[in-house]
Amino acid sequence: MRPDTPAAHTTEAERLLRTAEQYPGDREPLYLQAAAHRELAGDRPGATALYDTLLSGDPANPHLIRALKAANLWEYGHEAEARAIIEGVRRARPSDAAPWQITAETLEAHDELEAAESTLTEATGLLAGGGDLPHATQSLLTTRHRIRRMLALPHDDWDDVADRLHTGTVGLDELHDPKRLWSLGSSDPAELQAEITRLRSELGTYRTALSRPFPVAVLHWPEPELDELLAAYPELEAEYPTYRAHLTDIEASLRELAAAGTPNLGIVRATVPSYEAFAASESTPPSNADLLPQYATTLAARARATAWPPTRGTDCWCGSGRTYGECHGAE
Ligand SMILES: [Zn+2]
Ligand SMILES: [Zn+2]
Repeated sequence: MRPDTPAAHTTEAERLLRTAEQYPGDREPLYLQAAAHRELAGDRPGATALYDTLLSGDPANPHLIRALKAANLWEYGHEAEARAIIEGVRRARPSDAAPWQITAETLEAHDELEAAESTLTEATGLLAGGGDLPHATQSLLTTRHRIRRMLALPHDDWDDVADRLHTGTVGLDELHDPKRLWSLGSSDPAELQAEITRLRSELGTYRTALSRPFPVAVLHWPEPELDELLAAYPELEAEYPTYRAHLTDIEASLRELAAAGTPNLGIVRATVPSYEAFAASESTPPSNADLLPQYATTLAARARATAWPPTRGTDCWCGSGRTYGECHGAE
């Protein structure tokens, strides 16, 4: 892991922009991630420049880019422009969850709770049909539940769905209970206020992390690729004793990351030629196991990740042809 300092974020943004030159077809996701690193480095105008570069072309996800740009602009004194962009995103009624989520969280971060709630209600009406809800739509429902609790609104049907879908040990109602904050502090009003400020800032950090489409992905080597890899680089056998064990490891690591609250999980498919090309670009021999997580991160930054977990009724990520619920998703 690279240290979380402004300089490290600037370096990472530069690395991603160089990768974008190497893979022009993957420029959009790489620029978005580079922009997020520039934001984390405090270089907000630099991030805006990247969003504008993408928007001046013909991006695949214009609403997502606009939503991210608005969130960024509002953080450095461009509130009016941010609000205008947010209005435009809402009017466009995007068909994927991410721009709605970022828009609502931006409004929430600036204490516009009513506007955040109405944005999420609009998105829910548009995206949450029947059946298995994709993870991103579930996340809209959870955010909506939290904001409605803060506004002291009574539960509606979508809040009940959010409660049912929530799997954590602490129920959503307790987690999102505004009164919960009061019971955590002391009876000294000043201390209590400090505690609330601290909790709010913690929540704020969590929300910021959630609103960024940073995929955390693990590598999956399909069986023929794994055979070829280990034949060429037997040093890597310590990482991958058998194909079956490799598959079990993937599911176990993802479940562990999910249990620790990591959002945006995914799986990236590895191939020997692309791994060798990556190793060459890092001037490191492919037999060096330290390269594997960096290779995974770079593939994920190039938008190569398939979201995990799949819903229970869809094909398992491992390619067995069975459904996830009957294969690696079984308890
Ligand atoms: Zn509830
Ligand atoms: Zn499977």
